Amino acid sequence: MSADASVGALSERTGFDAYRDARAIIRLIQCSRCSYPLRVPVTLPCGNTICRMCLPRSHVRAGISYPANQERQEGFTCPFSDCTKEHSLADSNPDVVLGKVLELIGEEVAKCKTESSEKPMLLEEQAVVHPSMASSGLQFDRPRSRVLHGGRLLATYTFAEMGELAFNSDVIYKPLYDDEDGGLALDMMLLDRLKEVVRNEFDCQVCYALMLNPVTTPCGHTFCRRCLTRVLDHSLLCPLCRRSLSISPALTNEPNNERICRILATICPEHLASRTETVTREEQGALGESQVPLFVCTLSFPSMPTFLHIFEPRYRLMIRRTLETRTRTFGMVSYNRTREPQGNLGTVEFREYGTLLRIINAQMLPDGRSLIETVGVSRFKVKDWSILDGYVVGSIDRYDDISLVEEERIEAAETDPARRSNANGSSSPTAQLDHLSTRDLLDIGMNFIRRMRDNSAPWLHQRVLEAYGYPPEDPALFPYWFASVLPISEHEKYKLLPTRSVRERLKITARWVRRAESQRWYSGTCTVL
Ligand SMILES: [Zn+2]
Ligand SMILES: [Zn+2]
Ligand SMILES: [Zn+2]
Ligand SMILES: [Zn+2]
Repeated sequence: MSADASVGALSERTGFDAYRDARAIIRLIQCSRCSYPLRVPVTLPCGNTICRMCLPRSHVRAGISYPANQERQEGFTCPFSDCTKEHSLADSNPDVVLGKVLELIGEEVAKCKTESSEKPMLLEEQAVVHPSMASSGLQFDRPRSRVLHGGRLLATYTFAEMGELAFNSDVIYKPLYDDEDGGLALDMMLLDRLKEVVRNEFDCQVCYALMLNPVTTPCGHTFCRRCLTRVLDHSLLCPLCRRSLSISPALTNEPNNERICRILATICPEHLASRTETVTREEQGALGESQVPLFVCTLSFPSMPTFLHIFEPRYRLMIRRTLETRTRTFGMVSYNRTREPQGNLGTVEFREYGTLLRIINAQMLPDGRSLIETVGVSRFKVKDWSILDGYVVGSIDRYDDISLVEEERIEAAETDPARRSNANGSSSPTAQLDHLSTRDLLDIGMNFIRRMRDNSAPWLHQRVLEAYGYPPEDPALFPYWFASVLPISEHEKYKLLPTRSVRERLKITARWVRRAESQRWYSGTCTVL
């Protein structure tokens, strides 16, 4: 049911007309499944919109142990033919903007109905044959017809509201009165009133301008794509309702809200074009400011502390400059001791993946040295670098995990019993880790830590725990903590930085445990893997 696509034709025409395009305008707010004007619209993770009551029956999703919350365990198969994926119910909440817009339109139309009882018109439904629209809920069997009042726009809305106008159908209008303009003036007036009442609803609550490339979050709030990525650079919480968001901060897999895009392209194409132009200009202006100071020193991980003693003059300068910035952040990259080529950077003295650190405490000593306490914010990949006053600066790309939805899909696929039984006989013990649930992979690490503490392993001394905290229960963070305390080579630990999923990281830590156990590490002495 990729029926939504049919609305697109309207926006490609230059200019549109309340009278000529009345049918297409009403289709913008119709549910493609039940054909009524959208009732409690829900925008799905694939960007398609449907009434909440039109969501398919839900089922318990198989093979997902992370995240373990109840809400994500229930899902349904997406009814849109351009998607058909499984969506979690937790990601399918009412679309706040569209809900409000539909409500305002309903109210305004109701006012209009009481005002215009003259100008009766015969509306006849007309089938549109389009292969991609075949499975709409309200089927067109034989044309329905009605005598309705008002201009075309009002009459078409009423027709849809009565549940008699299939989403895919067209309408033939036959005025039953003598009037030269055929209700044209009424249509123009109603459309202007509708535009007026909904106008402010399409302002982004981050930049307060018209939404550009609107993305709807799993909690149902909509922002410009650019605004949302900027907010997510700082925290994974929705800027409106503060719910934590199960999306990847770069929004690579989050499509635009299709409905809102089409509505905006229809009701305010000029405004949209000028917004696009302004933003493009701003972004060109911002290029060149994105250089980040890079400290070539040690391995750091997100959410973990790094303590630094700054004594080299070039780094004193770098830290002083960082302390003057609003974010107090700099990049930490580790030495490339083995001189391995680093992707596009070639052979450089540092490794290409690093961690952005925020200074949370700085103690300046009288002789100019300083003691700095930092915490890891996020990972990055260095795109390009140069030297500024003796230290390295680089342009970096933020580097994040895939979305939770993607994470769940991979776990379900890898733990599928059919695949597991195939692999059991032949594969090595480390390959078998691939088929364990994410929760089981975490438990391998957690249980190992518990046994090591019982054996009083020196690397789990109280002083270490005071600095790094106790092992985090969050499977996404556990590997970073583990790598921070475990006495193994930097080369091994570095493998965590380029990972893209929680599972991938937990498999690495589970492999460390397996190898440590096979080397009889229980004695508590430190072995380098
Ligand atoms: Zn979908
Ligand atoms: Zn519906
Ligand atoms: Zn915005
Ligand atoms: Zn929200």
